[in-house]
Amino acid sequence: MSGDYDDKPDPENPFKRVSRDDHPDRCQASDTQGQCHFYRTEHSIHCIKHGGQMTEKAHAKEQLEQYRLQKYKARVKDFSTNPKVLTLRDEIGITRMLLETKLNRWQDDDELIAHSGVILSNIQALHKLVIDCKKLESQMGMLLDRGAIQKLCDDILNIMSQFLDEDEMTQVANLVLGAIAAVTTARVELDA
Ligand SMILES: [Zn+2]
Repeated sequence: MSGDYDDKPDPENPFKRVSRDDHPDRCQASDTQGQCHFYRTEHSIHCIKHGGQMTEKAHAKEQLEQYRLQKYKARVKDFSTNPKVLTLRDEIGITRMLLETKLNRWQDDDELIAHSGVILSNIQALHKLVIDCKKLESQMGMLLDRGAIQKLCDDILNIMSQFLDEDEMTQVANLVLGAIAAVTTARVELDA
């Protein structure tokens, strides 16, 4: 604005006239009488009467949107870097716990039927979480399918058989197969 002039627009009076004809903050609109004598608004080349008001409103709206956008961005950043944010697996665990608690609370059939809507929506939420989790893990390359596990297991046992005698081999094979069964069971539970 007119930083170097002592004659400035008056925020209280939008229809104050410019102090001189060549004032840099003079409204640029003209009519039959010549150029308008009012001050332009802060973000427009026109005075309130000649459209400056609209520009001010648009500017205020844009400022508000920018402010909201920045706030939103900050929240997303905060959310994605916060180590306390639950992982999908944590959410699955919590949802399962909730479901179990509800099922334990409603022991008799009438109660269960009365709350079937809640139970059903809980199961659906759980189902969705499991699918999301699997999708995410698959995208991250964390999910080995059963065939791949089987193949890996065979390869490991073949390598070991080159170094171990038959008794040792049997013991190792049992332990390895047990460990793999535990992983696969965990997967099946997640699949369920
Ligand atoms: Zn004007």
